[in-house]
Amino acid sequence: MLTGTNLVTTNYIGGQWKRPGSSEEIDLISPVNGEQVGKVRLSNEEDVDQAAHAAKRAWPGWKTMPGPERGALLQKTADLLSGQEGRDIAEITAKEMGKRYSDAYGEVVRGAEILHYFAQDAWRSVGEVLPSITSGKLFYSKRFPVGIIGVISPWNFPISIPIWKMAPALAYGNTIVFKPATITSFTGMKLVEIFEKAGFPKGVINFVTGSGSITGRAIAKHPAIQAITFTGSTSVGQQLAKLAVEHRKKFQLELGGKNPTIVLDDANVSKATNLIVASAMKQTGQRCTATSRVYVQSGIYDEFKKHVLNNVKAIKVGNNFDENVDMSSLSSENALKSVLGYIKKGIEEGATLLYGGHQLTHGNFAKGCFVQPTVFEHVTQQMTIAREEIFGPVLAMIKIKSYEEGLALANDTEYGLSASIFTNDIAKALDFIENSEAGLVQVNSETGGTELQAPFGGVKASGYGAKEQGQAAKEFFTTLKTSSMISL
Ligand code: NAP
Ligand code: MG
Repeated sequence: MLTGTNLVTTNYIGGQWKRPGSSEEIDLISPVNGEQVGKVRLSNEEDVDQAAHAAKRAWPGWKTMPGPERGALLQKTADLLSGQEGRDIAEITAKEMGKRYSDAYGEVVRGAEILHYFAQDAWRSVGEVLPSITSGKLFYSKRFPVGIIGVISPWNFPISIPIWKMAPALAYGNTIVFKPATITSFTGMKLVEIFEKAGFPKGVINFVTGSGSITGRAIAKHPAIQAITFTGSTSVGQQLAKLAVEHRKKFQLELGGKNPTIVLDDANVSKATNLIVASAMKQTGQRCTATSRVYVQSGIYDEFKKHVLNNVKAIKVGNNFDENVDMSSLSSENALKSVLGYIKKGIEEGATLLYGGHQLTHGNFAKGCFVQPTVFEHVTQQMTIAREEIFGPVLAMIKIKSYEEGLALANDTEYGLSASIFTNDIAKALDFIENSEAGLVQVNSETGGTELQAPFGGVKASGYGAKEQGQAAKEFFTTLKTSSMISL
């Protein structure tokens, strides 16, 4: 359904599908086969202004609609996603950014569950009644919506991340201006179309496509927008933080990671390896929580290495609509260049390439952005591949003598998104949970893979502000008002 040069993105403002004011367009090229998927129109500041004003006009009606009625619209959206609409959006995502269709559909399933969760939450408590030091006083704090929320999202989970931001924002009575990552603009557009089909009132959800530097910045600066929820790279997050402070906006940032796993001598090595290799290579290594550094204790290092090699050799790279394929392309030509650049740096800085390391260019791979699953050993902590987020299927192996050394090296990073340890030693497992500097810490699991009812978000350079998802989402998307009443 989605292919061809005649397909052009359209904004959605105040309930109308509208061309952006600017006539600037960029070509969207499939990273799987190099074909043109369509064109993305780049919105300007005037488009963002219209979207923000439409959201502002819709807010009084939306915030006073009873929570259960707002929840019913979220549930309708979940129901639509569970049918043909869900299969359609997964197909669009796979075509745009090269993710396996099955992974894109996984996002649809998760998205529907998130919508269901917040549809129910719209029925629940909006505050608490407190005891007062004055007799007879009704004393309470109540949650109110924040207002107009700017949603800026990345391309790597283009269905589930916008949903996990928009579902709580809407459930608690906020209206939205949403800008997707440019390379997943059609996914964003389809998602908004599904919300529209569910029957949301005009202006509650507004959508603008365009570059981060113009459209994204305009959202961050717009005076009618009270809060920004952002997921993306640490460098862009830092720029947004400055703008948000300057323009007095509430903000929440979910940023990059460099996630470590420790494997101790007493671990179940074969099961640990299966999980670690899958974590590093799943979705072509383009998950913010992917394992990218593995610290392996010397007693099991050789055995671990043997299992890693067996596992990576078995990874089938290929077309993302083929159900038998384990790994698809990277998301774009830029991503390919960046990942190949890191691999080159790893070799130049003295790491040993244990497996992979090359772009795939033969046969059907010729026009796509495919790279082999790649593993380095003899990596040292100072090397670029041990320090920077690669965002590709590259795993760095580092030998450690002890748990204490592993913990120190795992924490020796500017990032703090997720971390894990494989061990059956309960004391070390507990110590790791206590002392690991990450927002998500798992024992005998990979670094990724959380659940929607749990708070999610990183520390250090991986995140800032209130956590997302579960009950934690309330903190960002509502504001508390304390009130009292007494009869005199
Ligand atoms: P990105 O380049 O930072 O872009 C994220 C979003 O910000 C896109 O919509 C982008 O628009 C926009 N943007 C870019 N420059 C901007 C600016 N100056 N002002 C305002 N908005 C701007 O990140 P990405 O490459 O899409 O995604 C990959 C990154 O996201 C990785 O670092 C990954 O770790 C992180 N991530 C984190 C989490 C988490 O929960 N912690 C989850 C997923 C991904 P354009 O597309 O138009 O540039
Ligand atoms: Mg980017």
